Amino acid sequence: MSKQLLIATRSKGKKREIRVILEDLPYVLRFLDETGILESREEALLEHAETFEGNARRKAQYFAKQIGGAAAADDSGIEVFALGGLPGVRSRRFAMVDAPPDEQDQANNDELLKRMDGLPEERRRARYRCVVAFVPRPDAAAVTFEGTCTGIILKTPKGSGGFGYDPLFHSDDLDKSFGDASAEEKHAVSHRGRAFRAFAEWLRQNPL
Ligand code: IMP
Repeated sequence: MSKQLLIATRSKGKKREIRVILEDLPYVLRFLDETGILESREEALLEHAETFEGNARRKAQYFAKQIGGAAAADDSGIEVFALGGLPGVRSRRFAMVDAPPDEQDQANNDELLKRMDGLPEERRRARYRCVVAFVPRPDAAAVTFEGTCTGIILKTPKGSGGFGYDPLFHSDDLDKSFGDASAEEKHAVSHRGRAFRAFAEWLRQNPL
């Protein structure tokens, strides 16, 4: 039977994408909602590091201990250069709204547009970043992989594909918004596609 690999995320949007990006790996992917591990207070505090890498490492280490085996976790977000890198590690809670994921995404997008109101195109440059941390055994150190992609923040949303900030992100690589891109187009150039493909390549050299 194939070995199992835990991908420690509770985000439906990320889960949908990671399943496709890692579909060629010879392991059974498991996600947190399939493990019965309920969200605890301790888990909520894991994402309070100041870097994507710190958050990803803490999540992967925590869940490798919880399940007594290999765990990978990603931390990601969008950085707007004219806002000094914000929302950055605060991307998920940028609008400080406690609501279901879809409403939270909408509030975040509104908040981003408000803070960028009046900025001309040349000051709307941004990049998505994703760091994947992988802990092969509960007592092992984490290995990390990073992926980025650049673009500009549109003045109005375009398309309904992807999740989160995607309708506002006009990709340099695709010359269209991630909201208007198909899943395959987005994964080919996205921060998450790049980071998880680097992780998959490493796993091929260092099998479980
Ligand atoms: P995390 O769960 O702490 O990694 O938060 C990730 C947050 O960054 C998400 O909730 C989104 O707001 C944003 N984000 C990260 N990756 C993407 C993406 O691929 N599309 C749109 N938003 C993203």
